[in-house]
Amino acid sequence: MAQYDLLIVGAGLYGGVFAHALHQQGLRCLVIDKRGHIGGNTYCDRKEGIDVHAYGAHIFHTNDQGIWDFVNSFVPFNRFTNSPLAVHKGKYYNLPFNMNTFYQLWGLSDPQQVKEKIQQQIQQAGITQPRNLEEQAISLVGKDVYEVLIKGYTEKQWGRPCHELPSFIIRRLPVRFTFDNNYFDDRYQGIPEGGYNKLTEGLLAGSVIELNKDYLQNRDYFNGLAKHVLYTGPIDAFYNYQLGTLAYRSLRFEEELLPIDNYQGVAVVNYTEREVPFTRILEHKHFAFGRQPVTIITREYPLSWEKGLEPYYPVNDEVNNALYNKYKALAEQEKNIEFGGRLADYKYYDMHQVIAAAQVHARKFLQKNYQR
Ligand code: FAD
Ligand code: UDP
Repeated sequence: MAQYDLLIVGAGLYGGVFAHALHQQGLRCLVIDKRGHIGGNTYCDRKEGIDVHAYGAHIFHTNDQGIWDFVNSFVPFNRFTNSPLAVHKGKYYNLPFNMNTFYQLWGLSDPQQVKEKIQQQIQQAGITQPRNLEEQAISLVGKDVYEVLIKGYTEKQWGRPCHELPSFIIRRLPVRFTFDNNYFDDRYQGIPEGGYNKLTEGLLAGSVIELNKDYLQNRDYFNGLAKHVLYTGPIDAFYNYQLGTLAYRSLRFEEELLPIDNYQGVAVVNYTEREVPFTRILEHKHFAFGRQPVTIITREYPLSWEKGLEPYYPVNDEVNNALYNKYKALAEQEKNIEFGGRLADYKYYDMHQVIAAAQVHARKFLQKNYQR
């Protein structure tokens, strides 16, 4: 007799939302993670009274009232609004691309003149239908912004020339002809007060959690513990890379404690030059308006992924999406194994999207297996 209704592999947001939905129905979940903590990439490490975003800046944003109410039912969110800066050759620019940025670059404050300037640059580049990230970026903001703020940053982040990258990556960012430095268009935005761990602790309350357990090292044993399995790790690793290896980007985080109270005056500064080896510097206290006498910063260095490194970003180009679809077809044949999350779905999901996907999936799972 299996001890649990569901074994959840991965204590990140996808696993947490699933565990919460099942626990509410009186079902028993065992949640395992190969890391020594819960929360997946949202995990925060409290040091000197500062919640350090251990796997890079995590800013929650959503347009969905239901998702916002859901996360706020576990922990109140603060009023943080992401307004990062970009530095290029010592000069600072506002992000996302908006009238402040265009003024800083061209000295133009009239939105009509800015639109005309961008239009001229699109025509000069001869782009009619953007076919890749480079053409998409130029079509949105013109060649100058592309060269100063996008090209270097994107090529080091993804390790490929912009003309070999899919255009959807750059469409994540808003372009505005107003003086508005809010990085997101969404109605709701903030950081959990006391850090993201409060959110995942709430989601996982009522489930049994075992850390430092790698499912793939002992899958027969773990499968024997539960009637069903939800796997949220990389899908190609689940199938032992038998059809080929999916491409990911990895990161290296370099953290520093400084004996000063304010290093850069903002939570995120992007370094857009190709020659600077890191992409961003985070100053964690600013996510929570911290007043500690010291500060902690993290430099984020992009890395090519290889087995053994953390796969942070899926590279959703045509080749990799086609390979993912083959793995997906295998996954659909599985009887008692469910797949989901940023790694198993191989999708560049933000947190609100992971929560929405996990809620829908959990509902279907309950209907199918428990008629609820
Ligand atoms: P994960 O958080 O990756 O959790 C999966 C878990 O599975 C991990 O803990 C892993 O250890 C575990 N696991 C994997 N394989 C095994 C195994 N074999 N056995 C046991 N455990 C295993 N989203 C936003 O909305 N806003 C942001 O500002 C934002 N910034 C981001 C910045 C960075 C640098 C990154 C990488 C992501 C960012 N995201 C952001 C995205 C966000 O992190 C994800 O949407 C979300 O955390 C994904 O949740 P998940 O549960 O699918 O995956
Ligand atoms: N980007 C850029 N310059 C910047 C910030 C972002 O060119 O200063 C591009 C880059 O290609 C990046 C993409 O926009 O991968 C998406 O940026 P976002 O901040 O959403 O990335 P994430 O936080 O997911 O790493």
